[in-house]
Amino acid sequence: MIDTSTIRIEKTSQSRINELDEDNIPFGKLYSDHMFIADYIDGEWQDLRIVPYQNMSVSPAMTTLHYAITIFEGLKAYKNAAGEVVSFRPEANASRLNVSAERMCIPQVPESLFMDGLTELLKLDSAWVPSKPGTALYVRPFVFGTDEYIGVRPSNNYRFMIITCPVGSYYTKPVRVKIETKFSRAFEGGTGYAKAGGNYAASLYPARLAQQQGFDQLIWTDGKSHEFIEESGTMNVMFMIDGVLRTAPTSGTILKGITRDSVLTIARDWGMQVEEAPVKVSEVVAAAKEGRLQEAFGVGTAATIAPIATIGFEDELFDLPAADDSFFSKKVLKELDAIRTGEVEDQRGWVY
Ligand code: PMP
Repeated sequence: MIDTSTIRIEKTSQSRINELDEDNIPFGKLYSDHMFIADYIDGEWQDLRIVPYQNMSVSPAMTTLHYAITIFEGLKAYKNAAGEVVSFRPEANASRLNVSAERMCIPQVPESLFMDGLTELLKLDSAWVPSKPGTALYVRPFVFGTDEYIGVRPSNNYRFMIITCPVGSYYTKPVRVKIETKFSRAFEGGTGYAKAGGNYAASLYPARLAQQQGFDQLIWTDGKSHEFIEESGTMNVMFMIDGVLRTAPTSGTILKGITRDSVLTIARDWGMQVEEAPVKVSEVVAAAKEGRLQEAFGVGTAATIAPIATIGFEDELFDLPAADDSFFSKKVLKELDAIRTGEVEDQRGWVY
């Protein structure tokens, strides 16, 4: 057991909070005043501390720079209606971090280390949690190998950190997505289910090609046949076809999204028909052609719900109806927001 009551706190003498303009938040560019650090040395997590946000000095031979021994998480903190700082299902992020850790031979991060580091950091930087609708403080926990070693093997030493940055709305308009049938994000036996840095690096080139063709994002298909839908960019993806909410099951190739789980839980509680089963590209395309594809949307922490306006497949483009208040995607977004702000009761214990 590590004693998280020993977190050392070094406060900044020069807060940068006046740089925060809630009406105009640049995504991922402005970081809050402090960061949490714990080091894994000699087989244990130690030297727990919160220090002013600052650059770090690392060895050019640091293993992670060469071999991507790095995993991360993403969650958000909000101000609820009572003005308290809350976050959404952080324990689920702590446990997913450890699923990723196992796959990358990174030591487990005890839940108490994750939760206490997060809590103390949010207490100290609570002024950085914006309160305007659509805004949040994005929280980025991450772990990386710190050995000064060129050679492919697990690192002996690691660093766990949490940094945070205020964010506004992620996607402002419904997105255009392309069903990718050449490149793959993941494959059976690979690392798709882990939130590992290398997965994201590998996604950049196909995403850039799609952007050059006028799309915002990709819908990934399975690496073997490209016949099945997997996920979209950094979101899971859902479809409403003939009144049934459809999404792919999370397997070894798909990240187990916490928003995905929350949306499916709410849909089931609302008595909707939900099908967590392989979704064929051909089914989606046929439904789109026949006007049976009622909704398509991405689900993930960054945007919560990102309605899809257009789907591109091979040489065809399919436009979807614009989401109005009767759409499930709108209703579930409203429900998730209401749970976070405390407008509706948090029956499932999701708000921390
Ligand atoms: N898939 C991928 C590849 C992601 O990076 C994310 C973002 N973490 C998601 C899905 C959505 O997961 P979550 O709802 O937990 O943010």
